[in-house]
This record gives sequence, structure tokens and C-alpha cells, in this order.
Amino acid sequence: MLSVRDLVKVYPGPVTALQGVQLDLSPGMFGLLGPNGAGKSTFMRILAGLLEPTSGSVTLDGADIIAHPEMVRAKLGYLPQEFGFYPHLTGEQMLLHLLRLKGVTAQGGIDSLARELLDRVNLSFAAKRRVKGYSGGMRQRLGIAQAIAGDPRLVIVDEPTAGLDPEERLRFYHLLAELAENRIVVLSTHIVEDVAVLCPQFAVIRSGRLIARTTPRAAREAIAGAIFEGTVQPADLPELRRVRHVTQAILVEGRHRVRVYAPAGDPPAGFEPATPTLEDAYLVLMRTEGLEAGNGARSTGVPLAGDRAGAHS
Ligand code: ADP
Ligand code: MG
Repeated sequence: MLSVRDLVKVYPGPVTALQGVQLDLSPGMFGLLGPNGAGKSTFMRILAGLLEPTSGSVTLDGADIIAHPEMVRAKLGYLPQEFGFYPHLTGEQMLLHLLRLKGVTAQGGIDSLARELLDRVNLSFAAKRRVKGYSGGMRQRLGIAQAIAGDPRLVIVDEPTAGLDPEERLRFYHLLAELAENRIVVLSTHIVEDVAVLCPQFAVIRSGRLIARTTPRAAREAIAGAIFEGTVQPADLPELRRVRHVTQAILVEGRHRVRVYAPAGDPPAGFEPATPTLEDAYLVLMRTEGLEAGNGARSTGVPLAGDRAGAHS
């Protein structure tokens, strides 16, 4: 069990990156979804015991990560957003280097552990190749190999799918899903699809606050009957955006296929009811909750635990 209480981080400037985050997580995959600058990496670094918060607490199975990071670090695996590699090393050499840095030991020796880990992330075939020839997905898998050394209880992965092509992303999804079978995995992302594919539970973070904690299904159900789709001429889109809550506008054959959120059930003329997607739900949450947060409605930033996005247990 991971427990986060009243977490605040103020950087010199001052920049308030986290404004009082509360979160309780049990094993499984948890998504932290939010735009650039929302505070995701700050949160992840604090969870990893690498950055000291201004105030608040983080405990993993009762052990205090902030007061005693060195005691808890063996139970943590972390894949940072910017992961540095030595391009001239082979994948195997790089992994061995990282394992030594981390202070990992293994009964059968560290070399056989490295081979096991490479096998686990499907990189055995490239063990002797230089990292500089690795694709983005292969690098991320190598990053996961070091993160899971020592079988950590908590794995923290910060925007791991950014920059992966669709096929690599899919492979990486499978690997992450496996990891979450018996441990807590916290995945941060700005990509809604990551959450839709992987996360039975997620929170939306904006301006250093968790503005919702919910499930993909509950988030979609909360806006059922309120999403409508229609086609408009490009020239009419700005006006529609001004008077309506547009959740999506994509160009199809030179015209805009547009989705709007109309909770009162009064769509623009010619618009038809549409099944809500998680993307719709995210954009609605970001707008409506974000406005309240901007007004200072919740000075403590207490997460809403799904009360906005629909009931779930
Ligand atoms: P995200 O990962 O969601 O993009 P970050 O946690 O990186 O968000 O950043 C949150 C906010 O804190 C941003 O406004 C960012 O500019 C600021 N920030 C991040 N790191 C630092 C730092 N070392 N010093 C000052 N401000 C920082
Ligand atoms: Mg980040």
C-alpha cells in the first residue's frame, strides 16, 4: 500500500508544483494523467525518494519514503522521463552498469541476473548490440529492466510511451501490464490512450492538484448522454468553440468532425448523440474542474475520489 498525504512541493522561484496531493494505492496499475507542467515528474521523483517535498508524507507499506529513502529504495523501481544511456555500451553492459550503481546483488551473480532481466523485457536478442542502435522502444525496455531489478513493490514510470511508434507502444503496454500483476505500478502520461489501455484506475492532475480520481468506465459514464457529434464547415468552428464546449475536432475530407459536451442535452442543430470516449471525459474534467481550481475553490487540493466522475467502489 502506497499512501501519500498533503504533498506540497515549492521550487525556488517560487513555483508551486504540487499543491497538497492525497493518494492511496494498492497493487495494480495506476495512471496519473495530465498535461505538460501539471506536476507529474515532480510527483514521481518524490515517490522515488529522489526529491524532497516541501511538506507532506509518502509511505510504502508503512515505511516512510521521505524520512528514510535509503531503506525504502530497494523496494522501488523508477524509470525517469529522461533516461540517460551510454550509447557506446552494449545493452548488457549498460544494464550491468545500472545494476551496480543501484547496488543490486543476486545469488547467482549479477551477470546472470542481467541476462534474466534482458530476457524478461525481450531484449536478449540485442544484448550484445550497442545501445546507440536501439530503437526508442528498446531503450525503454532496457530502462524497465533496471527498474524491476530486485523485484520492487512499487514501480514508477514517468511518461514512458512518449516518442514510441504504435507498434513499440503496444509491446511496451504488454510489458507494463505484466508488471502490474503483483505490484503497484504508477504510470504518468499525457496520452489518454495509455490510460484507456492500461489503467483500471487513474487520477487527473492539473496545476499540482489531483482534480479527479476515477476509473475509465466511471469517467465515461459520468458524461453519458452529454456528448454529441456533428460536422461543421471550417469557418464555423471558431464560433462553435466560443459558445460550446468542444471536446474534439478532427478534419475529415476538408470538414470538421466535431464533438461537443452538452450536459443539458441541447446539442447544436444537426448534431447526433455519441458514445463518450475517455478523451471526451478527460477534456471535460480538465475544463470544468480546472476552472474551479483556478478560482481557489479547494485550497487544500483534496482529491475528489470519483465523486465528480461518477460513483465507483
Ligand atoms: P510535468 O512532469 O507534469 O510536465 P513537472 O513536475 O516537470 O510537470 O513540473 C511542474 C512545474 O514545476 C512546472 O511549472 C515546472 O516548470 C516546474 N518545475 C519543475 N522542475 C523545476 C525545478 N527544478 N525548478 C523550478 N521549477 C521547476
Ligand atoms: Mg514530466
